[in-house]
Amino acid sequence: MVAVDGSNMAHAVIETAVKERTRLHTGRSRTTAVVVLVLLAGLGLFLGLVVGKSDPTSAPTCNGQTMSRSDECRIWSNHGGGGTFGYDEMIDRRESGKGVWKVVGFGGAALAVVLMAVSISKLDPKRPWGKPVTEICPRCHQPTLREKLTVHTISRGRTNYRYSGIVTLCTPVCGFTAVRQR
Ligand SMILES: [Zn+2]
Repeated sequence: MVAVDGSNMAHAVIETAVKERTRLHTGRSRTTAVVVLVLLAGLGLFLGLVVGKSDPTSAPTCNGQTMSRSDECRIWSNHGGGGTFGYDEMIDRRESGKGVWKVVGFGGAALAVVLMAVSISKLDPKRPWGKPVTEICPRCHQPTLREKLTVHTISRGRTNYRYSGIVTLCTPVCGFTAVRQR
């Protein structure tokens, strides 16, 4: 067991919210999301175009050995799909296996592009952090408070501890912060 001081945790959740707001407003969140999604789209295209590239003429292999036209390949399988296959049948098996990589690769790339569009608009640096609060700020008496449910996670060995609360922040100039439980 890890003893945790409640007020320290409240402070940590507020810090997490302030950092998240900074990352959003500097555009760093958006840059990170776009970079990761570009890499995923690239990986998807690689799988679809290179790993899944159809090649219906080159010689198939059987157990790692290149087959000749007269060879037969015996495949044992505990879950169906086994049997004895000729040269052309082994080509068909290889090509249908590549079809799966095409679907996974191009599907993944398309999904990454959609998520990129979503994160470009959702993580727009011009979008304000959180939702507006109707009450005025107790420190600067301006209606500038905004709030957002924030989760702070710490790892202790293999265990993750999650602390969450609704964080209220005023403008960085005012600096008022508060956190409450849901
Ligand atoms: Zn304020």
